[in-house]
Amino acid sequence: MRKIDAAVVGAGAVGCIAAKELACRGLETVVFEEHSRPGKFGKCTGLVSTRGLEALHVNYKHAVVSRVSGAAIHSPHFSFEVRRKNVAAVLDRQRFDEECAAEAVDAGAAIRYGSRVIGFSRKKEENGKNGTRVVTGNDGKKRFAARFIIGADGAQSPTAAARGFPPLEKLVLCCEKEFPRARVCDEEKVEVFVDNKLYPGFFAWIVPAGGGARIGFGTTRFDLAPGIEKKFFEKKEVRDAVGARKPKKSYWAVIPLAAREKTQAGNVLLVGDAAGQVKATTGGGIVFGGLCARIAAECVAESVVNKEPPRYEERWRDELGAVLRVHSFARRCADAAPNPLLDFFTAAANFGPAKLLDWFGDMDFILR
Ligand SMILES: Cc1cc2nc3c(=O)[nH]c(=O)nc-3n(C[C@H](O)[C@H](O)[C@H](O)COP(=O)(O)OP(=O)(O)OC[C@H]3O[C@@H](n4cnc5c(N)ncnc54)[C@H](O)[C@@H]3O)c2cc1C
Repeated sequence: MRKIDAAVVGAGAVGCIAAKELACRGLETVVFEEHSRPGKFGKCTGLVSTRGLEALHVNYKHAVVSRVSGAAIHSPHFSFEVRRKNVAAVLDRQRFDEECAAEAVDAGAAIRYGSRVIGFSRKKEENGKNGTRVVTGNDGKKRFAARFIIGADGAQSPTAAARGFPPLEKLVLCCEKEFPRARVCDEEKVEVFVDNKLYPGFFAWIVPAGGGARIGFGTTRFDLAPGIEKKFFEKKEVRDAVGARKPKKSYWAVIPLAAREKTQAGNVLLVGDAAGQVKATTGGGIVFGGLCARIAAECVAESVVNKEPPRYEERWRDELGAVLRVHSFARRCADAAPNPLLDFFTAAANFGPAKLLDWFGDMDFILR
């Protein structure tokens, strides 16, 4: 059986960033991806802060379809706007994921497509220590013995299930449709709709994307989602934007809104959606997942040198745990607010706080 340093499960953006960083540190890395191509097949709005994208060290520029310079936040009866030039980019998500995969391969990692990981088992090494064996393929054949496993296999994470990690506590169900041609009033402005009766637990959005728009909503009330879909896509703002056009793409997907209580068990590390490293305010997981992938790779490389277990859990929580907790707190406050209170804050924001956000706001590191 072939021995490798690290097996990454999942060739999404986060898995590929982890693989690239591991390979750059000289570790023999193989990524296992169940599909025939990398990525999320565009099942994502792809709105990411420019500052966050820069921090990932991925050449994302070719994947940008629009630049965003502001947002209009609408509560049931009021609105306010925030503005800042080039604060975010809207990505062609598949192209971005493919760039991450190409950079991983350029760095020396191998990607095995059509290779679904179905489980792991322990293997005693010649020196008596436990290694981890990766089992790939539906045939159950044990093909690789990896010293470290990085589970970057999304919110449903088979890696987490196989190793008995605690479950993701909070999930939001999203429905998004992409309209290639849409009439948005401002190509650089995102529209966000907050209404705790209509979208309990989350919000709805219209994001301009290269002459079209990505339009969707999320809710923690899975049972209400079909009814919300009907109401939301009949909303005046949505009808004004899309008219009678048919969507090019329409999908449902879940986003984890809170990190797992545990994201590391010995030499098995979870990153990205598998770990729940997502901003609870917006559901954005590309920046934090990618940053945690970089941290995971650093910790694994250190562990190889100093022969101690990776300090990943401690490191990512030290560096990013506080800011993710602030996002969670903000989400809990927004969820608990009755609509009249959302209206009050939205109206009040026009008299000052929106200006503060214009000057100082950071989409990811809201503590800044
Ligand atoms: C509707 C929606 C809108 C979003 N909008 C944004 C946004 O605007 N900005 C933002 O930052 N984030 C957004 N997100 C979140 C973002 O998409 C995720 O946080 C991000 O994709 C997580 O990446 P990942 O690599 O961890 O997981 P994924 O992209 O889910 O990748 C997991 C990979 O693992 C593979 N895999 C799974 N199981 C196995 C297995 N057993 N064997 C082999 N391979 C396996 C899958 O095929 C997949 O390729 C959105 C999400 C949704 C659903």
